[in-house]
Amino acid sequence: MAHHPLRLILDGDALAANWRWLAARSGGAACGAAIKADGYGLGAREVVARLRAAGCRDFFVATWAEAEALGPWPGELALSVLHGVGPDDMAAAAASPARPVLNSSAQVARWRETGRPCDVMVDTGINRLGLAPADVAAGLLDGLEIETLMSHLASADEDVETNDRQRRDFAALAGGVQARRRSLANSAGICLGPDFAFDLTRPGIAVYGGVPRREADGRIRQVARVEAQIVQRRRIEAGDRVGYGGTFVAERSCELAILNIGYADGYLRSFSNSGRARIAGGFAPVVGRVSMDLTAIRVDAAPALGEGDWVELDYDLPAAAAQSGLSQYELLTGLGARSERSWR
Ligand SMILES: *Cc1c(COP(=O)(O)O)cnc(C)c1O
Repeated sequence: MAHHPLRLILDGDALAANWRWLAARSGGAACGAAIKADGYGLGAREVVARLRAAGCRDFFVATWAEAEALGPWPGELALSVLHGVGPDDMAAAAASPARPVLNSSAQVARWRETGRPCDVMVDTGINRLGLAPADVAAGLLDGLEIETLMSHLASADEDVETNDRQRRDFAALAGGVQARRRSLANSAGICLGPDFAFDLTRPGIAVYGGVPRREADGRIRQVARVEAQIVQRRRIEAGDRVGYGGTFVAERSCELAILNIGYADGYLRSFSNSGRARIAGGFAPVVGRVSMDLTAIRVDAAPALGEGDWVELDYDLPAAAAQSGLSQYELLTGLGARSERSWR
């Protein structure tokens, strides 16, 4: 098999420790995990195996295709499909052990026929997916076997009044619905405190090393590290330009390492002249524009680095988000398409 010049080093202990911290913060509530987008880009199957060993029993994907891609699903674990059951999903849903999260009256009508259990999403203000509270109050859900009744916070990462309003509206509405469990909080919602945990929490980003709010500062460990191989080392002279558009101009002669990573690998153009790699004793700045498959870093401080050596890009999510202007979610889910994943 051909050699991969780009790899994601994935820390299984950090993943499990992050989940355990979120589980503890969830108080008496059970703690699940969102594994949509292939486990936020890290590989959903591996994530499930590790979180299952840590004690996680409830998992969430976006679509039936994602549920199917997980392969045979262990009977003791619950799997919920967040987008529910659309007109083209019934065959896949019939063959799957997963439950749909019903989001609209059309989905409720479609699922009612099956007589099988389901989850339900109610919209308390995000206006993305979910049933209108008025429809719920009017009895739309009567007779359904509901495992988990959910809602989703719109601004849990901010200190805004809408968080409490959504929590109160959800609690009031849930009082009138027969469901085994209630669930509201994502990663940031867990940080808001025990009032937001209800019976089940649904963290995603923080499991994978994202820091959703300051309460998680210093508690959440980095899970994914990005390492690229050096394709070539070169010297440039004063006045030389680097990369497309020549956006970096050397003020004096310096040494570059050209790395096997670019925006097609998820290392986006926002890191042009702003990202950095870790080298012994410090950082090597990205110079010039990130291109599709290659990125230049300045390595005057690392005379020993050369062709074939591995270099770690600085990809600590909160820091990289601040540096690039991208969200921690985009930074994470964009990785991995062309990388080898190596769990440690
Ligand atoms: C993605 C998602 C989550 C997890 O959110 P994070 O912000 O990544 O913790 C929880 N619930 C729903 C409905 C989601 O779509």
